[in-house]
Amino acid sequence: MANSLIVVGSVAFDSIETPNGGVDEALGGSATYFSYASSFFTRPRLVGVVGEDFPDEHRQLFASRDIDTTGLSTQAGGQTFRWKGRYHQDMNTRDTLEVHLNVFSSFNPVLPEKFRDSSHVFLANGSPVIQARVLDQIKKPTLVMADTMDLWISTMHDELMELLPRLDGLFLNDSEALLLTEESNLIKAGQAVRKLGPKFVIIKKGEHGATLFSEDGVFVIPGFPTHEVVDPTGAGDSFAGGLMGYLCSDDGPPPGRLRRAMAYGTIVASFTVEDFGLGRLKRTTRKEIDQRLEAYRNMLAF
Ligand code: AMP
Repeated sequence: MANSLIVVGSVAFDSIETPNGGVDEALGGSATYFSYASSFFTRPRLVGVVGEDFPDEHRQLFASRDIDTTGLSTQAGGQTFRWKGRYHQDMNTRDTLEVHLNVFSSFNPVLPEKFRDSSHVFLANGSPVIQARVLDQIKKPTLVMADTMDLWISTMHDELMELLPRLDGLFLNDSEALLLTEESNLIKAGQAVRKLGPKFVIIKKGEHGATLFSEDGVFVIPGFPTHEVVDPTGAGDSFAGGLMGYLCSDDGPPPGRLRRAMAYGTIVASFTVEDFGLGRLKRTTRKEIDQRLEAYRNMLAF
């Protein structure tokens, strides 16, 4: 059976402020960034919820990337999830200014029948209870990865602990890994997270790249050094999307495959940050991704 990638997560209107300008109500959300990023490698299946205010133009954008939106439901009378954030001068840290969950607050995804045979599953940042419910609906996944955040580590700790052994891979950022394990050293934290259940753990460090902890040991990869950082929103989800999209399209043997996938994820994320919202990804081609990957490979060779 051919591989197929499913993502379940938020579809949002993002309002973003940076030291160099901003954008209002741009298409965003974890599932949006993930599916767009993975669409350079495969035909992703998107599961999410939007309100009646979600314009056709956005659905057409998904369709233009061959993203299957059968699982994107529209809640009658509802409003789409809205998020507002402001980046600090260093562009690495941000404050959430507003969150209006709207239709996302009662999100309880029922997967379309035709999505239940998905081989690759990404549980985007969300309540671990919902993430587990999604996983219950997939018949025989071959690779399950999830993202989480400090909110769930603090408020749904036990539920998250129950989910972790069901995962192949977990994405976390550096501060979340420290919070989850109560360690102060990132390497110890990565190894400690693996002991909680996931076969491998990927710790994201923003512009400083990512570290993989797996049975093959530790693998470190730097961020692609782009000088054009306009808006970091969605970098983490694009990294995950590029990574899993690539994995879905490569049946080569591990561990090289996972390392290549991390490189692809890094490159796709480096495009995402070069403009607001999906702006730069919309102007990116697979060829451009491959060219930047080659430049990156040369930077890493020694
Ligand atoms: P990232 O920059 O990769 O961490 O992801 C940013 C995206 O996450 C934005 O497009 C937001 O719409 C979305 N987002 C922010 N807060 C939440 C939340 N509580 N649940 C789900 N998605 C969120």
